[in-house]
Amino acid sequence: MKIAITGATGFIGKHLASFYVKQGAEVIIISRSTAKQPLDGITTLTWESLKNNPQQLEGVHAIINLAGESINQRWTASAKERIVQSRLTTAAALADIISRLQNKPEVVINASGMSIYGISESERFDERSPAHIMDFLSSVVEQWEQAADRIQDTRIIKIRVGIVLGRDGGALPPMLLPYKLFVGGRIGSGLQWMSWIHIEDMIGLIDYCIRNTDINGPVNGTAPHPVRNKDFARTIGKVMGRPNWFPVPSFIFKIVFGELSTLLLDGQCVIPQVLLDHGYKFQYSNLELALTDLL
Ligand code: NDP
Repeated sequence: MKIAITGATGFIGKHLASFYVKQGAEVIIISRSTAKQPLDGITTLTWESLKNNPQQLEGVHAIINLAGESINQRWTASAKERIVQSRLTTAAALADIISRLQNKPEVVINASGMSIYGISESERFDERSPAHIMDFLSSVVEQWEQAADRIQDTRIIKIRVGIVLGRDGGALPPMLLPYKLFVGGRIGSGLQWMSWIHIEDMIGLIDYCIRNTDINGPVNGTAPHPVRNKDFARTIGKVMGRPNWFPVPSFIFKIVFGELSTLLLDGQCVIPQVLLDHGYKFQYSNLELALTDLL
């Protein structure tokens, strides 16, 4: 199988590329430059070269689009513009490249986010829940999904990615730091939901969606049992054998991180109903199991 991955030099993309190399697939990565090669034996193509010669993707079975400017930075006006535009231009470039292929990929998987459901401490969301556009992030995700929907003549899956837990990237390593310093605790009220997923399940579900041709449209990329922040904090403390006693008030995060603090202070309870209905078996459906594996 021939697979193309954009954003393959990032946290999720590196794991995904490595998974497919181990499976014996032919892996092509699409990047802004050829300088960062995540693994030996992978072909790197730049967006620029594909614009001139899209045929380099002829015969690709699946394209996974993970490219986008990191949201983990202070959301200045220019950062917000880069966060939005990087996603819209890469999705539009893919639509153009695919339209010029004689043999289209069978499936395109586009990353998306849970913020499309809005923020709530009481509701549970699945893929049938309506979009609730209430802030910068939900608007980015809505526009990103609309851009992906313009890709024609192929199955499109939009994975609404949860908080991906891994040792080597994403949200977990910075969350562990206070525990290492014996000052771990909940953030704000601790009532905000955290819809998490272990990196191995993230990779597993992408592969499941590629192989299962009945799956289409939005798919929540979260484990089946989201937890509130206070329970997440308690579980980290338990698994690390460190105290969980030092709650940090919301206003400190608001001062330090500005609008970005919404990533820590707000959340949503997101259930992966489409994956459950299609029989995907999570390796880590329970947070304690996931953290025990990772820590
Ligand atoms: P990373 O930030 O680790 O990697 C994203 C990749 O996108 C980079 O390696 C880079 O690849 C490319 N990229 C970065 N900036 C730009 C830009 N300005 N223009 C075009 N391409 C750019 O992301 P993750 O692996 O953590 O996540 C993958 C996707 O999933 C992201 O789009 C993210 O928003 C989304 N997501 C991730 C979550 C998580 O918990 N990790 C949660 C929710 C959504 P290169 O340099 O090779 O071009």
